[in-house]
Amino acid sequence: MNGEIVETERALVSAMEPIHLGIFEGIKAYVEGDILDEGNLNIIGWKPHIDRLWRSADVNGLKIPYIKEEMLEATRETVKANGFKTNVYIQPRIWPKAGASRSNPEFHVVIPTWKFDTLLGRGNPRFNAERRYIVSSWRRIASDAMPPQAKSWANYANSGLASREARRYGYDGAIFLDNRGFVCEATVACLMVVRNGRVITPPVTASLLESVTRGFLIEFIAEDLGIPVEVKDFTRVELYASDEAFLCGTGGEVTPITSVDGFKFGDVYPGPITTKVAEYYSDVLAGKVGKRKGWLTSV
Ligand code: PMP
Repeated sequence: MNGEIVETERALVSAMEPIHLGIFEGIKAYVEGDILDEGNLNIIGWKPHIDRLWRSADVNGLKIPYIKEEMLEATRETVKANGFKTNVYIQPRIWPKAGASRSNPEFHVVIPTWKFDTLLGRGNPRFNAERRYIVSSWRRIASDAMPPQAKSWANYANSGLASREARRYGYDGAIFLDNRGFVCEATVACLMVVRNGRVITPPVTASLLESVTRGFLIEFIAEDLGIPVEVKDFTRVELYASDEAFLCGTGGEVTPITSVDGFKFGDVYPGPITTKVAEYYSDVLAGKVGKRKGWLTSV
């Protein structure tokens, strides 16, 4: 926190801090060799995540008082200080300090890290859990009102409305439509569907976060798995009529979805392409895919 290793319980700030004006990133590091085991950790997508953090800061008028290399070193030190040997989530947060002058603002920079349980890895039973989703009656925030491409905390008020709505009705999660009525993304992850052997995902212009995971998947599904990928708008009815659907994101990794609004996807769950994508991505994360080792940065 602000240049020092601080225990979470001691990382205290005033109740008057404008944390709601803050931005953040969600990054993960996975165990090399076998992500369900213990060992050395590699960060997936450090560069695109940290570039997005800087873009989010710019859009929101914040200035990160470090250079990107210092953030990487600070992240490494934080993970090491915790002695982590299993997969960890890393969430850099930046917000304006309370009481700093407008002409000379100051910013808090904190890098919380914690362990998480992955859905991925061979034979992981968490992957196969049923997940019933709805299309939310809340639209995703429009890019010309509150840009979803910048990862600011305020955007998640919109996500919270949709996920609470889903839970109220007894569902597991929600998919947004954008302000034009096209399929957008989920509350904390992007969406991909499979139709007739092709993977389809909405474009960034459909008011979604430029997801790092989505970018990696678009690249490897086409190039390494030989499955055609289309980035294009599609409608709610096309979503219902898909053979498979899955979420992708740092938190969600590759998460299969069973149904949307009661319309079930395909005869087999999780679907074959979803499973193939998840297994390959697990290998990428574990550093087993030579061609994709450039996406990893050692802790
Ligand atoms: N959309 C939203 C709203 C998210 O919060 C996230 C998680 N960061 C994603 C998509 C997935 O983005 P990424 O792959 O960069 O984690």
